[in-house]
Amino acid sequence: MGKGVSGMLTGVKFAFLGGDARMIEVARCVSELDASTVMVGFEKADVSFPDSVKVAFSEEVLKDADVIVFPVAGIDDEGRVPAQFAEQPIMMTEDHFAVINKKTQLFTGIARPRFGALAKRHGLALVRLMELDEVAILNSIPTAEGAIALAMEHTEITLHGSACTACTVLGLGRCGVTLARVLAGMGAAVTVCARKPSDLARIREMGLTAIPLEHLGDAIASSDVVFNTIPAMILTSDILARAARFCVIIDLASAPGGTDFRFAEKRGIKAMLAPSLPGIVAPKTAGRIIAQTMVRMVQEASSSTGG
Ligand code: NAP
Repeated sequence: MGKGVSGMLTGVKFAFLGGDARMIEVARCVSELDASTVMVGFEKADVSFPDSVKVAFSEEVLKDADVIVFPVAGIDDEGRVPAQFAEQPIMMTEDHFAVINKKTQLFTGIARPRFGALAKRHGLALVRLMELDEVAILNSIPTAEGAIALAMEHTEITLHGSACTACTVLGLGRCGVTLARVLAGMGAAVTVCARKPSDLARIREMGLTAIPLEHLGDAIASSDVVFNTIPAMILTSDILARAARFCVIIDLASAPGGTDFRFAEKRGIKAMLAPSLPGIVAPKTAGRIIAQTMVRMVQEASSSTGG
């Protein structure tokens, strides 16, 4: 890794492997700090910033990089790297992990167990950015905006509570808090379902209606729009059987979501899994959120190794 003036990334070689428009913004941010970037899987994208080249996927790219940046969604269990702008599929095999230098820093948003296991087996440090509060909390802002935009698109009513519209948020984690707050700020009548007594107390403190998760069915029965942020099967057939047919469900939880989509469809309820909203509605903001933390971690690693 190059020396680099404090705050800069001079001499640091980044390899970006697939992903969506967020990764173009991340690459632009590191390029502005004087890093060099190679972009794999961006053939169909407009990537025009200094010291950046589009290259084909190869072992050399992996061997040569100081930092490898995987998509926010990571790689799937077959090793496929999601790459929105790629002309060819990108597959990371065990052999590919084997050629990566042990000092290379690997970044991803989330990592499925196989991805994490492969990195560990080859002694590689893999940072899961979306597990860090500093990233996940900021990322919840474009997520909430995207979820609300989807709800508006798929309903014929305002989200504002004056028309007796009822919005229900499931979960009070990083996305749930932001979503509940933004909805309440818009004048929506917001109910939040959570399982922890402390979360139920917080929901009440926020001036919202708190419903324990064991009474989820009651909340669903009176909801027009449901936003799920709980990454577990929560909207089961027996719960959905209590929902009104006009109810719209926006499921934000990571795949496969927390909704029995088969039953929802059978019952005529509009339910949709809505992954990667920040990358769709605000790729620049979302990319900058990722870049900010990643750059800090690369600089910290560089200064701790005297690089
Ligand atoms: P988080 O901070 O960990 O919050 C998760 C919430 O779900 C917490 O309230 C947690 O409650 C609850 N929960 C988890 N497992 C549960 C279970 N088995 N039963 C009941 N409650 C459960 O996560 P987050 O950052 O808000 O993200 C939420 C989900 O959205 C994740 O799957 C994440 O990958 C996804 N996400 C999607 C997008 C998108 O664009 N669609 C964007 C960002 C994140 P406890 O505290 O009681 O465990």
